[in-house]
Amino acid sequence: MTKAAEETRSVYVPEPATIVDKDRMTQQETWYELRMDSGQQLEHDPGQFVMISVFGVGEAPISISSPPTKEDGFELCIRHVGNVTNAIKELEVGDKVGIRGPFGTGFDSDTVAGKDILFVAGGLGLVPLRSLIWTVLEKREDYGRVIIFYGTRSPSTLLYEDELQQWEDDPTVEYHGTVDMADDTWKGNVGVVTTLFPRVDLDPDNTVAFICGPNIMFRFVVQETQKVGIPDDMTFLSMERRMKCGIGKCGHCQEGSVYICREGPCFSYEQIKAL
Ligand SMILES: Cc1cc2nc3c(=O)[nH]c(=O)nc-3n(C[C@H](O)[C@H](O)[C@H](O)COP(=O)(O)OP(=O)(O)OC[C@H]3O[C@@H](n4cnc5c(N)ncnc54)[C@H](O)[C@@H]3O)c2cc1C
Repeated sequence: MTKAAEETRSVYVPEPATIVDKDRMTQQETWYELRMDSGQQLEHDPGQFVMISVFGVGEAPISISSPPTKEDGFELCIRHVGNVTNAIKELEVGDKVGIRGPFGTGFDSDTVAGKDILFVAGGLGLVPLRSLIWTVLEKREDYGRVIIFYGTRSPSTLLYEDELQQWEDDPTVEYHGTVDMADDTWKGNVGVVTTLFPRVDLDPDNTVAFICGPNIMFRFVVQETQKVGIPDDMTFLSMERRMKCGIGKCGHCQEGSVYICREGPCFSYEQIKAL
């Protein structure tokens, strides 16, 4: 895109992008690799999202799941739940979608260099955290311990299974997985994600927690981080709300005076505990 075109680009107008690869991850979720037709990179921060549109159907906010360092495009993981996300399920490699963004605030990995990093992901919450996890692992020597807690409903709903195995095998990563309901294939922990906390000794003075999952999970995970003594301003989470414009105009995602799409979706718990 030329500089002049970039300057006049409207945040309301979707830019064309092409699906270059896709893979069914579970019964409900599909992984996508996309490229902007302009050839530009999104230049996002981990935790930011795009508005993806299917022409003639509508738009939905979806987190960017690849790290910013990925060359040639970006990745999404989409759970097919309604109009837009089910329309995306029908699209094939080579098909076009519209993309606006990246929008929102991301997680800041630079200011927490030197700290132990605890990731707590529930279900689809692994999607935005994955972008940050890889960002941290790409500069592994800049951080202390890296601890990942990941919980899903059942073994068949695990996302990014190859990468979970990679983290499990990596001696510099402390990976702990759990499922709410086990089956014959499952050898690990059974229970909600908070049942993983007693498995590790965390240093409250040097640990930063990044949390993403269903709304119900936040309250219980924050109870655990507070019990350990991790300060609220060192506990970060990503909040999902129904969004329309993505840029703080329409008010669909407003909580009190806060527009989650613009001032979030990533906040410290200190910032949002009053909401
Ligand atoms: C910042 C952000 C990041 C997100 N990242 C991802 C992602 O990476 N992958 C992904 O699969 N999804 C993600 N979502 C959720 C996704 O945006 C919704 O599932 C999507 O908008 C549904 O659109 P639809 O047209 O398919 O469904 P609709 O036809 O609009 O609705 C289908 C059903 O889902 C409910 N619903 C829709 N949106 C939400 C919501 N946000 N919260 C609770 N219930 C809702 C509706 O009430 C309805 O019951 C994210 C949402 C936000 C706000």
